[in-house]
Amino acid sequence: MKKYLLDLTQTQFKAAAKHIIPKDYIFEQIMRWVYEKKVSSFDNFTNLSKDIRTKLSENFDLRTLSIVKKEISNIDGTIRYTFKTADKKSFFAVFLPSKDKNSVCISSQIGCPVGCLFCSTGKSGFTRNLSRGEILEQILQIENDTKQKISGVLFMGMGEPLFNYNSVISALKSLLSKNEFYIGKRHITLSTVGIAAAIKKLVEENLNIRLAISLHSTDDKQRKRIIPENFGFPIDEIMNAAQYYFKKTNSHLTIEYILIKDFNDSPADAHKLARLLKRRFLINPKVQVNLIPFNYVRGSQFIPSTSLSIEKFKNILKVSGIIANIRQAKGSDISAACGQLGY
Ligand code: SAH
Ligand code: SF4
Repeated sequence: MKKYLLDLTQTQFKAAAKHIIPKDYIFEQIMRWVYEKKVSSFDNFTNLSKDIRTKLSENFDLRTLSIVKKEISNIDGTIRYTFKTADKKSFFAVFLPSKDKNSVCISSQIGCPVGCLFCSTGKSGFTRNLSRGEILEQILQIENDTKQKISGVLFMGMGEPLFNYNSVISALKSLLSKNEFYIGKRHITLSTVGIAAAIKKLVEENLNIRLAISLHSTDDKQRKRIIPENFGFPIDEIMNAAQYYFKKTNSHLTIEYILIKDFNDSPADAHKLARLLKRRFLINPKVQVNLIPFNYVRGSQFIPSTSLSIEKFKNILKVSGIIANIRQAKGSDISAACGQLGY
């Protein structure tokens, strides 16, 4: 059975390929082809002997995903990719071009076990976790396809990254590594529905990436109506973990808040959010609230807030000294915006 190279850390690959690679400098050349030059076939590792290239392709797979669909937004150039895995499951990733930097929004799972009622991924059920390699390959494939350098990574596609902890951590280490992707920690954001225990564990990994908490509500009863059973963690515990992450890592923290009409978008809701952040000492230039206008998903009973109530909500936060941004939906014409990554 061939091994999937991207699933292996450098140490694991070195051990698995020791019968093929005679010298350390050759190993380093291979790693450069894989992670720096991002070449998609062993045949094109041109400074290696034919014999080594053949042996590599007999023993390892370099790519396992294929792009089965590519939709380009006429509005902003966002590209929604549909990938198919070796076991014939499909999932999505999104390329987000911008003037100063290109980012990708990648998936960590196929579907999602959490099942938030406002999210089309949640509505599509859970199939399986993606492996370290499948997480990383999304970025390599998008770079190969667009021929653009990617310098920002958002774990905001399909799935709850902290429910696929080990593979996501291994992928994050590769993204941060000087010898692999080498993307700065300030350009990597992990978004979570609030798995408090895993957020605390993440602190100990010392990766210090940006964290985004999908809070959406300041009241447990209200939150349970959109996130089934709050997925185990009451808001108080989620905020404990967020506060701990912020204090220990000194990284930027984002609180995500979807605005749903007549549900969580009143001035009273805004004041409650402001009070919550104040109580938690999270009114700070490094903490921001992202207000996300609810993107309509098929079959959903929720309605987006009006622009007027979104503005009012934002102003209440601002007056309290909170940095609040209204997130512009990208690629909404091709269902590539947040929460639209369903089938
Ligand atoms: N599971 C993680 C990461 C993926 S979801 C999480 O929930 O944070 C990425 C973001 O998209 C989250 O903030 C999520 O709440 C948001 N989202 C989901 N459905 C949405 C919708 N219909 N409209 C707007 N944002 C949505
Ligand atoms: Fe899963 Fe996040 Fe969608 Fe909730 S919002 S169902 S946690 S992907």
